[in-house]
Amino acid sequence: MKDVNIETKCIQAGYVPGNGEPRQIPIIQSTTFKYDTSEDMGKLFDLEASGYFYSRLQNPTNDYVAAKIAALEGGTAAMLTSSGQAANFYAVFNIASSGDHVVAVSTIYGGTYNLFAVTMKRMGVDFTFVSPYCTDEELEAAFRPNTKAVFGETIANPALVVLDIERFAGAAHAHGVPLIIDNTFATPILCTPFKFGADIVTHSTTKYMDGHGAGVGGCIVDSGKFDWTKYPDKFPGLCTPDESYHGVVYTERFGLGGAYITKATAQLMRDLGSIQSPQNAFILNLGLESLHLRMERHCANAKKIAEYLSSNENVSWVKYSALPTDKDYALAQKYLPKGSCGVVSFGVKGGRKAAEAFMKKLKLASIETHVADARTCCLHPASATHRQMNDEELVAAGVSADLVRLSVGLENADDLIADLDQALKA
Ligand SMILES: *Cc1c(COP(=O)(O)O)cnc(C)c1O
Repeated sequence: MKDVNIETKCIQAGYVPGNGEPRQIPIIQSTTFKYDTSEDMGKLFDLEASGYFYSRLQNPTNDYVAAKIAALEGGTAAMLTSSGQAANFYAVFNIASSGDHVVAVSTIYGGTYNLFAVTMKRMGVDFTFVSPYCTDEELEAAFRPNTKAVFGETIANPALVVLDIERFAGAAHAHGVPLIIDNTFATPILCTPFKFGADIVTHSTTKYMDGHGAGVGGCIVDSGKFDWTKYPDKFPGLCTPDESYHGVVYTERFGLGGAYITKATAQLMRDLGSIQSPQNAFILNLGLESLHLRMERHCANAKKIAEYLSSNENVSWVKYSALPTDKDYALAQKYLPKGSCGVVSFGVKGGRKAAEAFMKKLKLASIETHVADARTCCLHPASATHRQMNDEELVAAGVSADLVRLSVGLENADDLIADLDQALKA
């Protein structure tokens, strides 16, 4: 599926049925797989043959869908996880453990911030958070000898800042570490971070990829481009024998294209078990089949609404990078030429109280801790997803107290504008 366009990959990549096989991907709803001899099975355990033995590690349905996402992102290997949180945890923990350090962008999703700043810190991994707008000197100063990765989001949730991926990739590579990009909001339809130097991409597939609010899930994709073997001291887990897997050296056995994902599957999935259910993978694939069409409409609707909000007297500010007046417009032109996704954030005049009152009046847009699906919904992060943060942390995360995050769905844009209009007037 190399020489076809991304729309064709949305439909056809990942699963190619043989003669007389199901046209739609089969849901292999089985925990385990049968073998004729113990020798056959032993080879799988030794990673000498590829095949399935237990769905905690791998399942064919999941692999079809992961292969489709790898094709969409232009990667060499991918794995599904039970959630976006699991994807980001595995993506980092696969190369950074106790005693290591990671540079992360401060505007990342609140759940990821908490995972890094609290839970992973408790596990001994230290994080330095830098502003997406930091100077080169500030970015440089964030690195330490034990830094193992740089982490950011293409479009930050909910700050909607567009990351200068090339700049962060350059800094990461100058220090011999990979750039991990959470591409959830952009999806590969709007941006493929590997083209700009990112090495690993993660997704909360719960959002646009599923797109119907039906299944929680995540995905990790490897570009296969980062050469771990150039830095064997930094990445011993990939470059030296894994005693928990019969001394396999992942980079030797699976090459640069397969080492990172195989290690994450063989060690992290085996021990931590955050597998996606095959049923959810099937639902995710249905979403992927229309991702290209849906993203187009999400972007068109959101742009129309962002323009409407910009001219409304009860709105104090609008953040949407496809607006020419936006601070990130130039970055969006470069990284998101097809559109800036369906999420718009704005401030309601009158601050926190007014924002809450406005949201109560909405009829079509419902209040949800969710974004990026077919139904329009909104959230006041300061009183929901980000409520564990103090005012200083909120500012660093790019979330002000009056911020309303509006996830524009696939309804008729004029109907949505009418709904916003009556609520803002009230
Ligand atoms: C939602 C989200 C996550 C977490 O994903 P879950 O599927 O909810 O675990 C991570 N990153 C971003 C950018 C998100 O929007």
